[in-house]
Amino acid sequence: MLRFFRYGRSVKGFNQYRCNSTGKEVATIYDCIIIGGGHAGTEACAAAARMKARTLLITHKVETIGEMSCNPSFGGIGKGHLMREVDALDGLCAKCCDVSGVQYKVLNRKRGPAVWGPRAQIDRQLYKHAIQRELFNMKHLEIRCAAVDDLYIEAQDDGNSQLCKGVVLKSGEIVRSHTVVLTTGTFLRANINIGLDVRPAGRIGDEPAMALGQSLEKLGFRMGRLKTGTPPRIAKDSIDYSKLAQHMGDNPPMPFSYMNDRVWIEASEQLPCYLTYTTLRVNDIVRKNLHVNRHVTEEVTGPRYCPSIESKVLRFGEKVHQIWLEPEGIQSELIYPQGLSCTLPYEQQIELVHSILGLEQAKVLQPGYGVEYDYIDPRELVTTLETKRVRNLYFAGQINGTTGYEEAAAQGIIAGANAAGKAKNVQTSDANYTQLTVSRTEGYIGVLIDDLITLGTNEPYRMFTSRAEFRLSLRPDNADMRLTEKGHRCGLVSQQRYKCFKATEIKLQHAIEQLKNVQYGSNYWRRMLGLREAKASVEKSAFDMLGIPADNISLAQMIDLQPDELRWLQNETAICDRIKIEALYDYFVAEQQRDVEDVRRDEGLAIPTNIDYFAKTLSLSNEERQKLSLIQPQTIAAASRIQGVTPATILRLLKHVKRIPEAMSA
Ligand code: FAD
Repeated sequence: MLRFFRYGRSVKGFNQYRCNSTGKEVATIYDCIIIGGGHAGTEACAAAARMKARTLLITHKVETIGEMSCNPSFGGIGKGHLMREVDALDGLCAKCCDVSGVQYKVLNRKRGPAVWGPRAQIDRQLYKHAIQRELFNMKHLEIRCAAVDDLYIEAQDDGNSQLCKGVVLKSGEIVRSHTVVLTTGTFLRANINIGLDVRPAGRIGDEPAMALGQSLEKLGFRMGRLKTGTPPRIAKDSIDYSKLAQHMGDNPPMPFSYMNDRVWIEASEQLPCYLTYTTLRVNDIVRKNLHVNRHVTEEVTGPRYCPSIESKVLRFGEKVHQIWLEPEGIQSELIYPQGLSCTLPYEQQIELVHSILGLEQAKVLQPGYGVEYDYIDPRELVTTLETKRVRNLYFAGQINGTTGYEEAAAQGIIAGANAAGKAKNVQTSDANYTQLTVSRTEGYIGVLIDDLITLGTNEPYRMFTSRAEFRLSLRPDNADMRLTEKGHRCGLVSQQRYKCFKATEIKLQHAIEQLKNVQYGSNYWRRMLGLREAKASVEKSAFDMLGIPADNISLAQMIDLQPDELRWLQNETAICDRIKIEALYDYFVAEQQRDVEDVRRDEGLAIPTNIDYFAKTLSLSNEERQKLSLIQPQTIAAASRIQGVTPATILRLLKHVKRIPEAMSA
């Protein structure tokens, strides 16, 4: 049953105080308190409750639980991988996107399945309601609307360590728990900016968390300041679509969750997006109004990969930029112009919108705005997302310097599971409780957390496939094989999902074994498949043949050739798709493993001082080129310690350096 409070009062008459056998009132001690009902907080509280920890979610408002503060979309390249991993651990976001998307599209299809990016335009209201439905029906979870102003901390006898034992609400009430997870997003001591107008707010219409920011500072946490922004919203029926290119979703749409074989909406009912471009007039308006645009002139770092239109104009000069016009939902009148985040005064925002193709007569219904907020240096954390400074206290989401719903969700599920595990440990004094940690070899979640806690961040961190050195094996198709068993071992995964996973695993293993057992000379296969024969024939299994990219042999062809063994796969479309991907990557995954061993062996290799990091032959991001040429690391090991330079880049750098004769003779 949902137990739901509003500012200390129970909506359904639930009393937070219980009586003990002597009739004396005793306060409830929760296993876990999660602060914040955003994307990190909802995954964290659901994870803790799934692990049967007595959990309390405390958040400002019930109606903003699961709110998408900015873009009406989930997933994409790297972000889609995180969602599949959260789903493999039985998280909420993928399932909820499958019942709230209005346009599903897998990005990067032209490249290999390892870097496909499942993405969807989402109906904000439907998503929020789907998340709320999940939480309101969850056993072991109570929800309370209140502002948390402080943490309830107890100093330990050793005089050095501190223990978190609950939270202090704005009303002064103490709520006790064994562990606390803080997921306050963009709210810590936050201001929002429109033009020169500055007001304290965590998001438009929401109070900031001022006192909590001060409390964390007093506890000694290293903190910094970041900023982000959101575009103005435009009336759907005020756009001239005749001038714009229409983009439709995939047919059939691919679900995010391993538990679904289809999404809720029919392919033909998906909503379109439209593409337009800024004009040189936009650049003029931005430049002319810099003096009335506080957010842009503030010395605070914003997101590099989701920049405002102002930063794009300042960085790229006289270029024009793409603007995607995305629906906010089926019933919504609003269009979200992705790429047009801005913080000009309202009047100038209208002028700016009107100078874009197709938006000449557009009605601006909400202004864009920027938000500046405190974040905690994530090097304060360990792999479980517990803080080093205060025991039993965890941080997850944007508070750790990340940006994006998916990055938040991924941290939330890890922090929630570990907080629940730790709480059980506190009660039972069992030192061997299972912690949930994911390594860089096991998942993008591992890459995300490892990057944060070892390198820290000084700009909003978002996930990219290039951050992962093992990306050929960390694919969106196989997140369940990498993580579901692990999640199940610590009690995070429901029986229903586990059964489903096991059935898939058995089928996959059986089919791959069968395909590996059928061996013929390659020219026999080629003849039977109608392919040109090679000069020499070598022994190959059916699985090997499926993995030759140039031949693009399908499972259906193999089934036709080996009907006795493989007929059972005829109606197993999903399994066949997965086998094909496994076969394609089998050789490359083994090669990738050798590359990683090379990096370990050659860490001490000197980098020549005259290396040109801007050379076209060296495939690096702009961020990496800038950082490497500024810092000029002397060795591969030194380069690998630079914040923002990914392990995958280190591998490319190593190969590049090895081709320079000077480096090899050094
Ligand atoms: P949030 O979703 O912010 O949730 C925080 C929750 O904590 C809220 O429910 C809040 O009410 C609650 N809370 C805070 N303090 C307290 C307290 N003291 N007591 C009780 N409850 C509290 N991401 C992108 O990827 N790209 C973008 O372009 C982008 N632009 C953005 C623009 C704006 C203006 C904003 C606000 C966010 C933007 N984001 C963007 C970020 C995205 O919204 C976040 O990454 C994501 O929502 C973070 O999730 P979270 O769970 O960490 O925090």
